[in-house]
Amino acid sequence: DHLANQIAAGEVVERPASVLKELIENAVDADSSRIDVSAEEGGLNSLRVADNGTGIQSDDLLLAFQRHATSKIATGKDLFQISTLGFRGEALPSIAAVAKVKCVSATDDSGLGRVVEIEGGTLLANRDTNAPKGTEMIVKDLFYNTPARLKYMKTIQTELGHLSDVVYRQALARPDIAFTFSHNGNVLLRTPGNGDLRQVVAAIYGTSSAKAMIEVREDNPDYSIIGLTAMPIETRANRNAVTVLVNGRYVRSQAVVQPLMQAYHTLLPLHRYPLTVLDLRMHPTLVDVNVHPAKLEVRFSKENELRSFVESAVKKALGSEAYIPSG
Ligand code: ADP
Ligand code: MG
Repeated sequence: DHLANQIAAGEVVERPASVLKELIENAVDADSSRIDVSAEEGGLNSLRVADNGTGIQSDDLLLAFQRHATSKIATGKDLFQISTLGFRGEALPSIAAVAKVKCVSATDDSGLGRVVEIEGGTLLANRDTNAPKGTEMIVKDLFYNTPARLKYMKTIQTELGHLSDVVYRQALARPDIAFTFSHNGNVLLRTPGNGDLRQVVAAIYGTSSAKAMIEVREDNPDYSIIGLTAMPIETRANRNAVTVLVNGRYVRSQAVVQPLMQAYHTLLPLHRYPLTVLDLRMHPTLVDVNVHPAKLEVRFSKENELRSFVESAVKKALGSEAYIPSG
């Protein structure tokens, strides 16, 4: 089982940002309204995610670190109707196999909770403790026992860039959750958690970018889209300028980016991407999220319909707003 965990770790835990993604997704799945993230040295020294969510029952805390013990999938059919972010139950065991992990959790405000400590897959502690409601995960010395993997890590700045991407995407996906993110003690992001996407965009890209963006909003029986997109004043040569969310999950999808670009095509020079966040909602049967292990790629069952929906929604937004150049 220890070996299985280390093998799974190779797939799930590529770098600090992949650990962070799993920890934040768990915090989101736990109905948290606050998620505080901090990292040291690009996350290689330490990653901490603290939430105020449902917490984990004392009797279940150790189970959460056992492979597939908690998988939310009961039948094969469920694979097509996934509404939580996590579903394979292998992130925590994989992380605990290649790091020093401490988890403190409590399910209520009694002040009593549980702490579990695991190092490289070995259980060090599992006992009652004082804890506020919610869960705190601390992951230290990632890859300390897998030097070959550690060797592949890039500079602190590169790893920090990947960590930031993960936090930004989750913050954009959930404007209703207050996120903080700090690195080596410096606060890099703070979102209000009041549900206003524009304020999250302002926290990430700056107030003036956020002000210039226009709203995309459209519904049909299959799809709904809410988003913000910049007129050509705010473009990037980098595809990262476009954030696509499907049912609250960050995805990479040409099926969404291409129609966005199509709607813009007379306005934008080649290879410039408009700063954009598109939040798409659809019935879970219309999207298959189980295509890629890292869950970034999805397959849409009515892709052509979706493409024309996105294109017309963006065209409508671009057409209906008067373009006022700033500055
Ligand atoms: P998965 O998310 O795929 O179910 P994980 O290994 O990521 O698997 O987590 C295992 C289980 O631990 C989750 O299903 C959940 O029940 C519990 N868990 C993990 N993190 C949290 C958290 N922050 N708050 C509440 N429960 C959590
Ligand atoms: Mg998970």
